[in-house]
Amino acid sequence: MTLSPEQQAEIDDLRASPQPTLRTVSEGMEKHLYSAVPVLDHGFVRVVDYMGDDAAICQAARVSYGKGTKSVQNDEGLIRYLMRHWHSTPFEMCEVKLHVKLPVFVARQWIRHRTANVNEYSARYSILDREFYIPAPEALAAQSVVNNQGRGEALEGEEAERVLRYLRDDAMRAYDHYEEMISQDGQQGLARELARMNLPANVYTQWYWKVDLHNLLHFLRLRADAHAQYEIRVYADAICDIVSDWVPFAYKAFEDYRMGGATLSSTALDCVRRMLKGEEVTQENSGMSKGEWREFVGVLG
Ligand SMILES: Cc1cc2nc3c(=O)[nH]c(=O)nc-3n(C[C@H](O)[C@H](O)[C@H](O)COP(=O)(O)OP(=O)(O)OC[C@H]3O[C@@H](n4cnc5c(N)ncnc54)[C@H](O)[C@@H]3O)c2cc1C
Repeated sequence: MTLSPEQQAEIDDLRASPQPTLRTVSEGMEKHLYSAVPVLDHGFVRVVDYMGDDAAICQAARVSYGKGTKSVQNDEGLIRYLMRHWHSTPFEMCEVKLHVKLPVFVARQWIRHRTANVNEYSARYSILDREFYIPAPEALAAQSVVNNQGRGEALEGEEAERVLRYLRDDAMRAYDHYEEMISQDGQQGLARELARMNLPANVYTQWYWKVDLHNLLHFLRLRADAHAQYEIRVYADAICDIVSDWVPFAYKAFEDYRMGGATLSSTALDCVRRMLKGEEVTQENSGMSKGEWREFVGVLG
């Protein structure tokens, strides 16, 4: 992670100056506030601000005048009920603002999640740093032969070295040319908004990303999942750790119902009922396609 000593000093300064407040604070989240969690080789996620905690979800659900907390057990039960029944608006009462540093190709996937507010570092105005994502050897995988949208075994030996060399050399050469083009050495220099177009998609960008808890959990459901690309998944995993400290009851319910749970079609449910009665159910007599059956068997383990 590349935080300059000045940036780290600013963060340390903020962490050293607590403010008295009447607002609810989440002890678990206070521990994360402002600090950067390293992700990939130069990236990070850090909490810049947040609103609400588990009690705020209950407070909204009960539309209460006070804290909204009846008892810890009661709150957890209510949150589980809300999660189970897709009563989602109380979760929207909690918000988080993150500062994320990420490669551009990860940002392209991330930005598809439209239910957030974003402000990105301007490469029209500022000069991008010489920072490119170069995968660690274990993440340098071959194209999957079974999944067109996935990767297989890690490359090894000479092939891995050649690929890493291409990635590094191409990035460095592109950046040298970028620097040369914007150089104002006695001349005008090419506009930054144009010079950036030769930079590869593994260059790092940064943004502030603000989202409510309901939409954040939707993002995490999709991006902390095994089907998501590794490079966005590691960001989602880092955010999961933060969320589990911020709103532990909501996160536990999310893990249980969304991450660990599964949705079954009425055909699949019918098969489960037939199995429970002792009937031998196969793909052929299930009413499901081969793909559906494969996923169904996967869910049942
Ligand atoms: C594993 C994986 C593979 C993917 N592959 C591809 C791919 O090959 N190509 C590709 O283009 N994308 C791909 N995506 C992106 C995916 O299709 C979604 O665009 C992305 O996950 C954002 O999801 P979302 O729209 O639900 O989220 P958000 O934009 O946060 O929206 C949340 C919810 O709000 C509602 N909503 C938001 N905006 C609208 C709207 N304008 N109209 C109606 N409802 C709205 C929807 O219910 C939506 O589910 C992939 C995603 C994943 C996780």
